[in-house]
Amino acid sequence: MNAGPWLDVPPAGYGGIENVVATLVPALRERGVHVVLASVGSSGLDVDELISAYDEGQFTELQKPYNQVMGIAHAHLARVAAELRRRDDIDLVHDHVEVVGPAVLSALGGPPVLHTLHWDLRKHAAFYGAFPPGIAVNGVSESQIARAPDALRAAALGSIHLATPLADRETRVERGEHLMVMGRVCALKGQHVAARICQKLGLPLVLAGPVSGRDTAAELDVVAQNPYHPLHSHPDVRYHLDQVTPYLDGDLVRWVGAVGGQERDDLYASARAALFPIQWDEPGGTAVVEAMALGVPPVGLRRGCLPELIDHGRTGFLADSEEELAECLLRLDELDPEECRREARRRFTPSVMADRYLELYERLTRN
Ligand code: UDP
Repeated sequence: MNAGPWLDVPPAGYGGIENVVATLVPALRERGVHVVLASVGSSGLDVDELISAYDEGQFTELQKPYNQVMGIAHAHLARVAAELRRRDDIDLVHDHVEVVGPAVLSALGGPPVLHTLHWDLRKHAAFYGAFPPGIAVNGVSESQIARAPDALRAAALGSIHLATPLADRETRVERGEHLMVMGRVCALKGQHVAARICQKLGLPLVLAGPVSGRDTAAELDVVAQNPYHPLHSHPDVRYHLDQVTPYLDGDLVRWVGAVGGQERDDLYASARAALFPIQWDEPGGTAVVEAMALGVPPVGLRRGCLPELIDHGRTGFLADSEEELAECLLRLDELDPEECRREARRRFTPSVMADRYLELYERLTRN
């Protein structure tokens, strides 16, 4: 299982791919799969073997030039490749490392490789349009696959929705008054839209998530105050400072930085609703299924994977405009949190995801 060199698995707080791997691996091991995890040395996930080229996560990449970022990815993949050459007991490689992962692994000619697509594929259209042969791929939603370049869409072995261990837990936290946006702070996730609506309606809103790898207001301040800081003009930093900060009045709309572990779960579980005013075609939506698992109805714009995850009027609301989104927030009492939990227990548990992946693994190793 190749999770890449960027963050620990599981991640301490924010972490998309690493979260997916941390959710999938325990369920696979329960089903008797021997898992060798390629990640960083500080990863704490229980696995049969851990291989790593780095002692700790390299996510500070954002401050590094592009060739250095690629260098880190390649050093990590060289470690994976060395392991694959050294031994013949690995039946399949499940790869999650965008762009360079499949290219390097396809050149090895070893065991079959399944590459899970995690991104909005138009972003990498040039690369994925010439996807290396011999690599099997799956998506994390139907809408992601539907928008993929032709060659990739034709090759994809369907999609498997994301899951969360929260769907198996009985988390009962007293509901608060606040609404939440949980996710990286960036224009794609649309925190400013949520902030604008909540200001207008007088609803308390909590924004949680890192800004370009900065987890706290103090960390971000260092970047904001120093025009020579390498992140000073980063688009996510500019977005936060220019488009979100004007709404942060310290009262109704708050940014709490990145949250992790129990703190994240409690903050999320006590929300009245989780907002997804997304400005892109969200490919997988981990935070959506997490909200449902916690009995927090998701309310978002009808884009990307959201219509596949949310049943409008039953497990959340889908809106076609900012105005409609605002109207939905006034109808939250129509939704039953139990219905969200039930849906998550039925569709978004690690077991459901692991069974689907096992089917794919078997199909690929049989050939
Ligand atoms: N997350 C977190 N702490 C934060 C913000 C986000 O733990 O402060 C988690 C969130 O709960 C989810 C993941 O990071 O598990 C984000 O995944 P998602 O697919 O929603 O977003 P993306 O991968 O596009 O950033």
